[in-house]
Amino acid sequence: MQVITAVQALKQYIRVLKERRSTIGLVPTMGALHEGHLSLVRQAKKENDAVVVSIFVNPLQFGKNEDFSRYPRTFDNDCNILSQEGVNIVFNPGASEMYPDGFCTAVIPESLEDKLCGKSRPGHFRGVAVVVLKLFNLIQPDVAYFGQKDFQQTVVIRRIVSDLNAGVTIKVLPTIRDQNGLALSSRNAYLSETERNDALCLYQALIRAQSLVKTGIVNTEEMVREMEKIISQSKSATIDYISVVNPETLESVQKAQSGDVVALAVRIGKTRLIDNVILTIYEQPILSDT
Ligand code: AMP
Repeated sequence: MQVITAVQALKQYIRVLKERRSTIGLVPTMGALHEGHLSLVRQAKKENDAVVVSIFVNPLQFGKNEDFSRYPRTFDNDCNILSQEGVNIVFNPGASEMYPDGFCTAVIPESLEDKLCGKSRPGHFRGVAVVVLKLFNLIQPDVAYFGQKDFQQTVVIRRIVSDLNAGVTIKVLPTIRDQNGLALSSRNAYLSETERNDALCLYQALIRAQSLVKTGIVNTEEMVREMEKIISQSKSATIDYISVVNPETLESVQKAQSGDVVALAVRIGKTRLIDNVILTIYEQPILSDT
């Protein structure tokens, strides 16, 4: 496994892979790897000749008062894990390698960036958009792998790829959870034991939403009220948002349909967690008269 920090060196390795006509799978990450990341790496490994994993805590996607400086960094351990998974290249640039002096270009996912997480994280999705597009340009992957866990991010990335003809296939894989349903996240490391227990309310609320629609309750105001009740039982929880949205436009819907997404962000103590589910609603069987 090659660990590369410089853009020039990365370009050379990519050139060799392209000359050999190897297909390339890319898994962009911020490191502090867990089974959620590894599910993407394993899928990439299955489907491509070579796998590149980027580990870069991207300063552009963090707000001023967010956790950039204390975000968990476990680089040596991450590399050990990735080498066991058979990854070919780990790209771990410094911030000045990605954003040298004079860098000033923005990528703005206009109608998507101020919805859901964008409301409390202004500028976040511009930061995501620019780093992902840079990685696509540098690595020229055939397929790039992302987690459903960061639902809005997947919508933004699909949009950019389509709008700017990025020529990459985007695959989104399901959210990996612990045995209690808590979505794995590098930020779970911030939680105390009590908070970790409180954090289960996110998934419990999502499950409740899913079961409501299955019993025919599709009014999203009612769904959100029921979810709020569940979350308010956790002492350390403060709701940032709960929303039922169209999976492409991210516009809120009043009546939920199959394929709509229930997304939420909740602060557990000081830690902001996100999660979501894609709703499935069983159609009523049509009764025949015979
Ligand atoms: P991050 O390092 O948090 O930026 O995540 C890197 C990639 O891993 C993103 O595409 C995330 O959506 C994905 N990811 C993070 N957590 C999970 C999870 N629990 N299940 C599946 N994918 C995940």
